[in-house]
Amino acid sequence: MHLRGCLNLMLVLALGGATGRAPVRADAPLVPVRGIYGGIPQEIVDSGRSLKEFGVDAVWLGSGSYTAERLAWLRAQQVQAYAEFNTLHVAEYLKAHPDAAPVGTDGRVSPAPDGWQGICPTHEGYRAGRMRAFRALLETFAIDGVWLDYHHSHASWEQAEPNMPDTCFCDRCLRRFQADAAITLPQVSTPERAALLLSTHRSAWVRWRLKVFTDWVREFRDIRDATRPGALLGTFHNPWSDDDFGGARIDKLAIDLKAQAAYIDVFSPMPYHARFGHAGDPAWISRQVAWLGSYLGIRGVPGERLRIWPIVQISDWGEPVPVRQIDEVLRRGARAPATGVMVFAWGGLRKSPEKIDAIGRAFRALAASD
Ligand SMILES: [Zn+2]
Repeated sequence: MHLRGCLNLMLVLALGGATGRAPVRADAPLVPVRGIYGGIPQEIVDSGRSLKEFGVDAVWLGSGSYTAERLAWLRAQQVQAYAEFNTLHVAEYLKAHPDAAPVGTDGRVSPAPDGWQGICPTHEGYRAGRMRAFRALLETFAIDGVWLDYHHSHASWEQAEPNMPDTCFCDRCLRRFQADAAITLPQVSTPERAALLLSTHRSAWVRWRLKVFTDWVREFRDIRDATRPGALLGTFHNPWSDDDFGGARIDKLAIDLKAQAAYIDVFSPMPYHARFGHAGDPAWISRQVAWLGSYLGIRGVPGERLRIWPIVQISDWGEPVPVRQIDEVLRRGARAPATGVMVFAWGGLRKSPEKIDAIGRAFRALAASD
């Protein structure tokens, strides 16, 4: 450990009682993981430094863009190699399988909210296909982990004002709900049944949807354990607390973080502060991460089974992120209970040398201190 980290740690231990901060284990390696998401950062190496020298120690690529050559490149750079895996957003599947389209409260196919196309979570063929692709990824590439992405309902939430239609009321979902929840719906039209599910049976409906989405995670975990048990299973997920947007993370998006914690190793909330209406308030990032830590009982100390590595917005998406904000955004993302942070997203940064420089300075500072 760096000398300054040791001194700070001793101070924390000494003041633990007085400040109310829990004491940290004396052997704590408090250097956070520093990651780049969304592409091979060739530009860093082209500028004359290795990724390690630059301050990066992990890279996330889309699962579809992994090749033996790219993995070998990451290995030569001595960084962790992770994949992102699209669970419920393979929109092109619907061309050949229109019965996998989510159905709305009116009994018709729900139009993609703001163009974001989800998939019915009980479509057996779609689910089996995703599981095969997940297995093939882990069997083919000796990667260090895989992160689930888009594991939520048919909803466009990655913006300041989310668009979250109620779904899926297809015949298959209603059949499954009735069997699993032991509730018999009356023989009425789908719109009438949907109205009952969102009123009389609302709590049973929400609970059932949560279980459906969590069971996907259980199966991904089983495949990970069977194919590459040393790889981490992570998830990129919505960063809202239980109170944000009226509890929509649970009621609308069907993301049960506590239940998923039985299967997930690393939670990567996506507090894209600028995109989500907090452009002038990077402290929002650490507030959301602190909430997640207390919610899941994660403190950010060594030896914990569960970890939090947020992915934070550095590239401009909808709202710009100024260069002068980069250091604070990364520091807030890496703050305990987080033990890692990653940059979103390399594709939007390749032509921004000033931003790349700022990322490197911030990462090297994180690597040198606690
Ligand atoms: Zn359905």
